[in-house]
Amino acid sequence: MSFKDFTYVSQPGRVVFGQGAVSKLEEEIVLLGAKRALVLSTPDQRQQAERIAQMLGPRAVGIFDKAVMHVPIESAREAREVARKLGADCAIAIGGGSTTGLGKAIALDSGLPILAIPTTYAGSEMTPVYGLTEAGIKRTGKDPRVLPKTVIYDPELSLSLPVGLSITSGINAIAHAAEGLYAQDGNPVMSLLAEEGIRALAQGLRHLVDSPQDIAARSDCLYGAWLCGTVLGNVGMALHHKLCHTLGGSFNLPHAPTHTVVLPHAIAYNALATPEAAKRIARALGCEGENAGQALYDLAASLGAPLTLQELGMKESDLERATEIALANPYWNPRPIERGAIRELLQNAFEGNRPE
Ligand code: NAD
Repeated sequence: MSFKDFTYVSQPGRVVFGQGAVSKLEEEIVLLGAKRALVLSTPDQRQQAERIAQMLGPRAVGIFDKAVMHVPIESAREAREVARKLGADCAIAIGGGSTTGLGKAIALDSGLPILAIPTTYAGSEMTPVYGLTEAGIKRTGKDPRVLPKTVIYDPELSLSLPVGLSITSGINAIAHAAEGLYAQDGNPVMSLLAEEGIRALAQGLRHLVDSPQDIAARSDCLYGAWLCGTVLGNVGMALHHKLCHTLGGSFNLPHAPTHTVVLPHAIAYNALATPEAAKRIARALGCEGENAGQALYDLAASLGAPLTLQELGMKESDLERATEIALANPYWNPRPIERGAIRELLQNAFEGNRPE
């Protein structure tokens, strides 16, 4: 086997994985040296946050349950103020990427350690990337302070994630690994994690769609999400993530479903320039020798996932503007960004055509 040159830097972090692993929470908080934890959640997950606070007794000083998608600066400021007033020395984020994102916003300001308990497959808990939205514009950045110090993965906590959300969240995670396989700064370790992450998620999602309460399927998905999130946290993304950022930010499309619809088309766009990555994606999906974009499309279709931007609320008349925005800020991609081909990609994603 021949490798291109690479630099590998591992990110610090402690992972505790397993059914019932949340019961180790207090031990983990003690290991962090924390005595006053602030528990974060969305309003929908308030009950889970209360359970966490109960488990910690006096080590929990409060619950802030106002996490929302894309971390509006106002909610970040409010959460920072609550943490300061309560004298919190640690934040526990129980939930998906939105809640982890709020924890990151607090850590960015205060350096407070975060313990993340992910209940979706988004993968934010494994990355030093944060996002903050001000006046409708989402700004992202990288800072090692926001990387959670400890992550507890307990598949029991994802049993309540509705099937539709589980599927789109899982494909969102697959997207991190798929683009990681052709990252400009990729390395063989991340490629191993990426291929295994896609395999585990595809296997878990295929079982979960008929048996959402199957703990083995949930474990596969969460294990895959960990690996895919690690890839996202270690190597750079390209066309797919940039397009989804544009569509989410400028057209208010939902995060994980947008990733789900766009992924087969973005991978098909890059496949000729990245034959090794395409081969590994197809192999991980159990479709060795097949076209990676088509294999991803078929996976989404078989899971009953959304296949068109139209059903997510995109207007056909906005495709032209989306193309312009996607071309406006140049970024690295394995295949040059070509106007006509990007417009066609968006049209195909809009209509839900199987990639050629
Ligand atoms: P989310 O966190 O917004 O969760 C979606 C909904 O599902 C919420 O209402 C939440 O309360 C609910 N939910 C979550 N887990 C549940 C469970 N087990 N049972 C019942 N309901 C549950 O969605 P997400 O897709 O996890 O995160 C999306 C956000 O994360 C976006 O803003 C995205 O930009 C960000 N993100 C950031 C990174 C990063 O590295 N910074 C990575 C991935 C995603």
